[in-house]
Amino acid sequence: MPKATVKVPTPLRPLAGGASELSLEGSTVGGVIRTLADANPGLKRHLFTTEGRLRNFVTVYLNDEDIRYLERESTPVKDGDVVSIVPAVAGGSPASVRTPHREAKVRDVAPPADEPFSRDELRRYSRHLLLPEVGLAGQKRLRQSKVLLVGAGGLGAPAALYLAAAGVGELGVVDFDAVELSNLQRQVLYTTPDVGRPKLTAAKERIEALNPGTRVVAYEERFTSENALEILAPYDVVVDGTDNFPTRYLVNDASVLLGKPNVYGSIYRFEGQVSVFDAKRGPCYRCLYSEPPPPDLVPSCAEAGVLGVLPGVVGVLQATETLKLLLGRGDPLIGRLLLYDALAMSFRELKLRKNPSCVICSANPTQKGLIDYPAFCGVPSPDAAPSASTVPEVEPEELRAELDSNEPPFLVDVREPEEWAIARLPGAHLIPKGELAERVDELTGASRLVLYCRSGRRSSEATRLLLDLGFSHVRTLHGGINAWAQRVDPSLPQY
Ligand SMILES: [Zn+2]
Repeated sequence: MPKATVKVPTPLRPLAGGASELSLEGSTVGGVIRTLADANPGLKRHLFTTEGRLRNFVTVYLNDEDIRYLERESTPVKDGDVVSIVPAVAGGSPASVRTPHREAKVRDVAPPADEPFSRDELRRYSRHLLLPEVGLAGQKRLRQSKVLLVGAGGLGAPAALYLAAAGVGELGVVDFDAVELSNLQRQVLYTTPDVGRPKLTAAKERIEALNPGTRVVAYEERFTSENALEILAPYDVVVDGTDNFPTRYLVNDASVLLGKPNVYGSIYRFEGQVSVFDAKRGPCYRCLYSEPPPPDLVPSCAEAGVLGVLPGVVGVLQATETLKLLLGRGDPLIGRLLLYDALAMSFRELKLRKNPSCVICSANPTQKGLIDYPAFCGVPSPDAAPSASTVPEVEPEELRAELDSNEPPFLVDVREPEEWAIARLPGAHLIPKGELAERVDELTGASRLVLYCRSGRRSSEATRLLLDLGFSHVRTLHGGINAWAQRVDPSLPQY
């Protein structure tokens, strides 16, 4: 007889001996479910009516298909198939399926050795205390836990709010930015009056207002090879909410060297990735990508938009993994890379394997310390050596005067059409940087060229390209259209 894996949903697990999945025999889906019910009498009335039919609020899937669209209970089962029971869930309220076994377990939890929870704390955390998987003991573990958030941006903001709400005792936060208006589309930790304030000042106020029981330790500095180990050492878990590769590698390497789990999250436009890198139990980030990509293959963060809610989803997934690690509950995303696609609204999972010759987490690592890579996305650094200084520049005021003269230069906007739609210089010609090499013919008639982008970075690279192609009179607008808007034409929006 074929054997199928039966996935038992959380509310029914107490009635199935706590198992999340079981391997059971049966030639049809109905047969497999009946085997399950026969072995666990408490389940029977939840799954079947007195007439012996599957209850209509119990949905059963065979692999990824609802059996109602197959042959229902008579759907044949092959060896290795997965049968999932998906019960209707009202949401919000505590689990309705309770058993003496679970209740006894909650009562068995030893009272906290030190400081008991106050009446207010018991009320604040009551929805956690009702969960057998958290309870008083778990809540106390959270209160004693320390989590380091590297980055208080799109990912760090929701993670910080939920970790504080959950009662994590200490949140260390590393960030040195000020709040910008364009952050508010996704960085829900900040409010409109916070614009211009240091992120950490605003974050500390907001987190402590949410939960005075959470201490916030602010590290208002760049995370570097100099300070990474010292900052991370006191923490139980690190949440990687950075927006750039150099910091990601530092977070990974410091976590491996100190033996701390690293809850990784990243976002790009409509897609997110989440994993847990814990070199003691699985792969690290370098097992996946041993080196950062070269700077010229990385899209600049400023060029890449992001759906505002996306970091919310990914940051909350990171907070979930963090709480599971702190509580020692559930299956962490170790060795698994979760891919989230907001447009398709799909989650996929890829297996991640530990690289036996990983440079940092293998038995014989070749890398024994931390490495500072030059910054090339999001965080400017003196080491980044942008080509800007090596190409001719024009200041916004000079360009204004030249455009007003009898021989104005030919203006080329190398941004994307979406940016062109926000603001542009009068008389400019749009050629996105990626199309420039193919469209140089459009420029051969011009005697003098000025290229511009948002902040001057892309147009510097484009200027370098044109100089290399043999154009002689090419300059880049220093500071881009944003500098022009600041210094020449305040009526233009900055973005
Ligand atoms: Zn590794």
